[in-house]
Amino acid sequence: MSQVVTRIAPSPTGYMHIGTARTALYNWLYARARGGKFLLRIEDTDRERSTPEATDAILRGMEWLGLDYDGDAISQFDRADRHAEVAHHLLAEGKAYKCFSTQDEIAAFREAAKAEKRSTLFQSPWRDASPDTHPDAPYVIRIKSPVEGETIIRDEVQGNVTIRNDQLDDMILLRSDGTPVYMLAVVVDDHDMGVTHVIRGDDHLNNAARQMMIYTAMEWPVPVYAHIPLIHGEDGKKLSKRHGATGVEEFQTMGYPAAAMRNYLARLGWSHGDDEFFTDAQALEWFDLSGINKSAARFDFKKLANLSGQHIAATDDAALLQELATFIGKTNTVDNFDAKKEKILEGMYCLKERAKTFGELLEKALFILSDRPLEVEEKAQKNLDSVSRSILSELTPHLQNAMWSRDALEEAANSFAEAKGTKFGKIAGPMRAALAGRTATPSVFDMMLILGREETVARLTDASQMEFG
Ligand code: GLU
Repeated sequence: MSQVVTRIAPSPTGYMHIGTARTALYNWLYARARGGKFLLRIEDTDRERSTPEATDAILRGMEWLGLDYDGDAISQFDRADRHAEVAHHLLAEGKAYKCFSTQDEIAAFREAAKAEKRSTLFQSPWRDASPDTHPDAPYVIRIKSPVEGETIIRDEVQGNVTIRNDQLDDMILLRSDGTPVYMLAVVVDDHDMGVTHVIRGDDHLNNAARQMMIYTAMEWPVPVYAHIPLIHGEDGKKLSKRHGATGVEEFQTMGYPAAAMRNYLARLGWSHGDDEFFTDAQALEWFDLSGINKSAARFDFKKLANLSGQHIAATDDAALLQELATFIGKTNTVDNFDAKKEKILEGMYCLKERAKTFGELLEKALFILSDRPLEVEEKAQKNLDSVSRSILSELTPHLQNAMWSRDALEEAANSFAEAKGTKFGKIAGPMRAALAGRTATPSVFDMMLILGREETVARLTDASQMEFG
């Protein structure tokens, strides 16, 4: 088989919808696994919406998701002359015609058809008119649709979808101002770009029948179609802002790693057995059109968060640090990250445990990001009452003199607790408050090991001298 070429063809809307991201991912997986090409075309013919900012939002989304495309992004608008050329070619071949019917005449046709209970699809009187009869007036170019028979869309997801040709009208290819219609632009672009597989949302399924008319008239091979069901919210309705985030960038700022997004989006509407968590390599190996579900997928934020936690835990520490830096750059949530990078990397092994988002990971890292004197949260202040403070000041020299290893620190803390006739659990709360100023933190031993002897002792000493009103 010849080389696979897929594409994503988003219309700029100001942001990148999560559904577009999923479609892009499917096209990317399909092409990349087969040594094919994955192309990007910006469908920017709507001049009002097609601002450079709106295109940038798409490019940023693709970049963050790691969906690299071959060559440059193609502008559909820039290719308008080529689209018009194809319409004129069909005209010259007698497969399209000039239609001079005015809006009023079309409306009158429809009225009459309605009254006579006939199909209201417009039938132009100009379809077979001789050029001699053509007036000197504005015209559109319409394609001659087949009058009988049927069109079968052989869809890899939906199966064979049959449409009676008498339900297809002679659609306009070129408007009276010479601009091409969307349907023509898509077909010409896909053909010229060598697209072999059109994988897109099933809201375009009806368009496929009309687009096939153009392929047939041009005697171009029809691409393989795979129309994927849309994404719904948890209530089964089309995913919208009501359900929460719908833009790729929102998910980025919520702190989900791109790898988790890819995993979740791949799984959303496609399955490989019972596999939920998988790597890019596995997705590339497994992804196929036959695994795409026929019914709409429901977006499940909990499932995304779960996968996200698994990806964070599975990512190696240095790569995670890099991603964290990108996240912080995007969200401006931490201002001393550079100064604390080393320590965070040192502590990554425990920070990444059970963190579902980068935000949660950073929250666990607060004991590293905060400097002395620590601010103690109100909840944690309760753990630093006068009794706890005196216990801490007694404990401090024991720790100070211990070897700085997990075993030695555990041993020192446990025997201190035992000598006091209590359990280590009782002194852990005050230690957390002293080392982090918080109640929810990594284990006190992890914190001590990461902070080091000097800083640990200083924080414990600070705490034993604190007074709260
Ligand atoms: N521009 C269309 C969209 O954003 C996609 C067209 C296509 O994939 O053929 O929905």
